[in-house]
Amino acid sequence: MRTLALLLVALAAAGAAPAHEADPGAASITPENLMADVRALTAPELGGRLPGTAGYDEAMRFCSERFASLGLTPGGDDGWLQRLTMELNRIDGCELTLVGADGVVEPLALGSDFACRGFTGSGVADAPVVFVGYGLSLPERGHDDYAGLDVRGKIVLAIKPAPKWEPVDGEGWGDAHLPRPKARAARDHGAVGLLLVPHPVAMRPQPAIASVLHGPGEQVGDLPQAELTTAAAARLCAGGLPELAGLVAAMDEAKAPASRELPGRARLAVDAAYEPAAPTANVVGLLPGTDPELRDECLVIGGHLDHVGRQGEVVWPGANDNASGAASVLALARAFAEGGVLPRRTVVFVLFAGEEQGLNGARWFVAHPARPFERTIAMLNLDCVAHGDSIQIGGGGSQPVLWNLARGLDAAQARLSTARTWPGGGADAEPFHEAGVPTLYFASTPSYKHLHQATDAPETLNPMLHKELTRLAYRTAVDIVQGWYIGEGEKSR
Ligand SMILES: [Zn+2]
Repeated sequence: MRTLALLLVALAAAGAAPAHEADPGAASITPENLMADVRALTAPELGGRLPGTAGYDEAMRFCSERFASLGLTPGGDDGWLQRLTMELNRIDGCELTLVGADGVVEPLALGSDFACRGFTGSGVADAPVVFVGYGLSLPERGHDDYAGLDVRGKIVLAIKPAPKWEPVDGEGWGDAHLPRPKARAARDHGAVGLLLVPHPVAMRPQPAIASVLHGPGEQVGDLPQAELTTAAAARLCAGGLPELAGLVAAMDEAKAPASRELPGRARLAVDAAYEPAAPTANVVGLLPGTDPELRDECLVIGGHLDHVGRQGEVVWPGANDNASGAASVLALARAFAEGGVLPRRTVVFVLFAGEEQGLNGARWFVAHPARPFERTIAMLNLDCVAHGDSIQIGGGGSQPVLWNLARGLDAAQARLSTARTWPGGGADAEPFHEAGVPTLYFASTPSYKHLHQATDAPETLNPMLHKELTRLAYRTAVDIVQGWYIGEGEKSR
C-alpha cells in the first residue's frame, strides 16, 4: 500500500504545484488545525460526548463558538442549535466479576474485557450463568432459546448478533436480535442480568464495545446488561472457548436452541440513571449563497458530534468516531468562510446529535428543516475520517456522477481514494438518501480498528490523511455549490 509520504515525494518530484498556491481555502485545512479540534472534542471533560450530558453540551458550545467566530449565520431554531430530545442513560458505575468454571474469581477490566450496554438497567446481579443461545424468545415464530429452561434468578449469556440463518417462517429476525428486545426477553423469563458476547465462530475475536444502539421498546431499567469478550465468556464453560464455540456451531447447524446451564457464575453491578427525553441539539451554521438564482438551493455538509459517552471512570473518546468528522466539518466551514470562495449556493454545516443511538439528529434535521430550502442539491457526510491510510467515498453506487466528481478531484491531488464504494447513504447520510437527496459519505480506510473502544484516541489518527480527505471534501463541496455539478445531469466545467 502506497504511503502518503512517498506519494508527496513523488508529487514534488513530478513538479506538481502545492495545492495551497492555487487554493487558500484548501490551504487553511491543516493537520494542526484538525488535530487541535480533535483534541478539544476528545478531552476527558467532554466525557465521550453523550447527548444530554454536560460534556456533549460543551462540544455543542465549542462548535457554535467556532461558527460564530467564522461569521456564519445561525441555522438552528434556537440560534446555532436545532433542539431535539432523546433517551439518555448515565452510567455512573459498573463492575463485572466472573467465577470461572474452574472456580477462579476474575474481576474483568471495564473498557477492555467488558462494557455495559449503553441502555443497561441498574442493579446488582450475583448468580449462576445460563447460556441462552441468541437470547431470542419467539415461540409463535418457531424459535425459543428459553424453551424448557428455568432462568429465574439467573444471569443469562446470549450471542449478541442475530443468527445468520432465517427463522422457520422466513420472515427474518426484525428488531428481536437487538439488545433491548433481548433484555426484555431475559427479564420476562425472570433473569436478573444479561451478558452479551460476540459470535465465537463466525466473527474474528472481537473486543467488548460500548454501544448505545439498543433497539425499540421500553427501557428495561431493572436488568443490568453488559457485553464481554469471547475469551472472558468462554471461562464460564468447563471446556473453555472450544466448548462455547461448539455450542454455537451446533446451534447454527441445527438452526435450533442449544441452551444450557453453565458451571460459571457472575456478579454484575451497575449504577445507571435513565431519562426518556433528555434535551440536546444539532449545531447548524449557514453560509448564505450569493447567486440570486441559486441561493435557495443548498449543500449540506455534516458529521456527527456525539459518541457513546463514559461508564464510571472510563471515557470512550471517539477520536476517529467522530471527533475527526466533526473537526472536518469545522475545517470546511473555515475554508469556505476564509478561503475567498463566494458560494453561489448556500452551504449548511451541521453537527448531528445521536448518530450512535440510531441517526436521531440527522433524521430530525431531515424531518424538521429549520430553514426550508427550495432544494437540497447534495449532502456530504464525514464519519470516521482519520484512521488508516486511504480514502473511501460511499454513495457512488447510487450517485455515480457525484462520486466521479470526487474521485476525479482526488486523482488530480492526493490520489488516496480507493475504488470501493457502496449504494445508498449510510449512517447520517441515510435519512438524506431516503429523502431523495444525493449523498457522498467520506470515510478513511481501514478506519475501524478502534471502533467503539476506549482506545479510539487522537494518537491513533493519521493527521496527513485527515488533511487530504478534508481537502478533498472541500474541493468537492466547492464544485457542487459553484454549479459545476448540476445534480442528476452532467458535470459542466
Ligand atoms: Zn460514527
